[in-house]
Amino acid sequence: MLGLMQSHPLMISSLLEFAARYHGDTPIVSRRVEGDVHRTTYAEALGRAKRVARALDALGLAAHERVGTLAWNGYRHFELYYGVSGSQRILHTLNPRLHPDQIAWIVNHAEDRALCFDLSFAPIIMAIAGRCPQVKHWIALCDADAIPPALAQAVPGVHSYEALLAAQTDDYDWPVFDENTGSSLCYTSGTTGNPKGVLYSHRSTVLHAYAAALPDVMNLSARDSVLPVVPMFHVNAWGIPYAAALTGAKLVFPGPALDGKSLFELMQAEGVTLAAGVPTVWLGLLNFMRDNALRLPTLQRTVIGGAAAPASMIRAFEEELGIHVLHAWGMTETSPLGALCSLKNKHLAMDRASQFAIQVKQGRPIFGVEVRVVDGNGVELPWDGKSAGNLLVRGPWIASDYFRNDGPSPLRDGWFPTGDVATVDADGYIQITDRTKDVIKSGGEWISSIELENIAMAHPGVAMAACIARPDPKWDERPLLVVVKREGSTLDRDELLRFYDGKVAKWMIPDDVVFVPSIPLGATGKILKNQLRQQFSAGKAQPGA
Ligand code: AMP
Repeated sequence: MLGLMQSHPLMISSLLEFAARYHGDTPIVSRRVEGDVHRTTYAEALGRAKRVARALDALGLAAHERVGTLAWNGYRHFELYYGVSGSQRILHTLNPRLHPDQIAWIVNHAEDRALCFDLSFAPIIMAIAGRCPQVKHWIALCDADAIPPALAQAVPGVHSYEALLAAQTDDYDWPVFDENTGSSLCYTSGTTGNPKGVLYSHRSTVLHAYAAALPDVMNLSARDSVLPVVPMFHVNAWGIPYAAALTGAKLVFPGPALDGKSLFELMQAEGVTLAAGVPTVWLGLLNFMRDNALRLPTLQRTVIGGAAAPASMIRAFEEELGIHVLHAWGMTETSPLGALCSLKNKHLAMDRASQFAIQVKQGRPIFGVEVRVVDGNGVELPWDGKSAGNLLVRGPWIASDYFRNDGPSPLRDGWFPTGDVATVDADGYIQITDRTKDVIKSGGEWISSIELENIAMAHPGVAMAACIARPDPKWDERPLLVVVKREGSTLDRDELLRFYDGKVAKWMIPDDVVFVPSIPLGATGKILKNQLRQQFSAGKAQPGA
């Protein structure tokens, strides 16, 4: 027997309609490529998103066609999120930090029909335009008179976004269609092989937005002022542009200025209560605040994910700055929120050290996401906080396949293998110990590179640390620590290795340390371990690939 409830498809457009109706005057603040700080509201954003939809109609874009974006976090990108998906086209966010050849490959694979870009990415557009014949419309996110002559010459017919919108009105009714329709597309970073496209749906996006807002997740509300440092070109800024509209939270977009000073100033000026980003970005903010003895009294909590948040960083935020850290785990294929670390009632009476030991973990699965950990034979491992195995996930916002995938299905018996190695404890807290390809296999045992990095990062002389496997004739692989010293530090190899005494089993202690001026970071701010492995295992077979 069916229930007698109304059936309304979950539509992305309804999120912005809601925000405009109930939070119409709530600000959306953006630092722009133009250099200034721009202010708008949900009500105005709705009107402009409708103009986007009409402009795409006028350009002749059909339903389901892809509209690429190469843009920073800002109000125009936000309007595109809604105007493109809301009108049944697919928003395809491109990562501008990738090499232009890779961007061109992705644009062609996705068959983007239009591509909207911030002017700072005009050089990329000029480099790829000739190689992307399926793109019919190049749209610069600026006023008509701001288009540089060189761009107009290199890309004939390039449109001005503002001119396209000015030619339209707000008179538009969002179409209503099957909630499983594709809404946005994001390619994985592709450090190995070609990038793969993950195609989100209206249903998955709206459900994920509900989940993101939950109290034990981001705890978002109409009282928040939210700053996503995580880019809108990386897994939809962790769903914040949707979850903020769902709750009516104020949005603060940092544009291209992601250094500690710029972030601090924007957070202070806009009373930011919640920020979200990868650990490398937070390192910049932490250092700036420490060096200048600054505080952010409004900032209550920060979501750190995308890579393991070192224990030292969690402690620094909490103890030095009074900012609560929410450690989160996810990936492009999981929309991305899979687990988030918040304490339970029974943990509140614990001492801080015991609480920190929990906060270092990546957290409990969010309702909707099921997890299991299996060994190499697919046998499920116990949830004892010790048994490490491959992490599998499934749920309504987990990918079922890749876009235009010619290869086999990525699923295993309906579960998505994350490529992460993890333990789960009896309370369901997941701890990621490694990527499958980064784990260090020494004498048949696995050593967690994340654990060794965590310890190094706790040394006051260390600014950044990465642990990689080095081939070893006897043990197969042994850990090698690559370290960037903090400015002015006199730390040496032996002192750092001694620091491990008593913190891990003796055989897990790295064999050696190399000090480097910098560690290479990928397009999403994560350490490029394959590059480090190539660099530091010269002449030997590349380990762990
Ligand atoms: P991406 O699809 O580029 O977002 O990368 C997803 C991968 O980032 C995951 O599979 C993990 O390996 C890693 N990752 C994300 N969050 C965390 C975290 N909190 N701790 C450790 N690794 C993480």
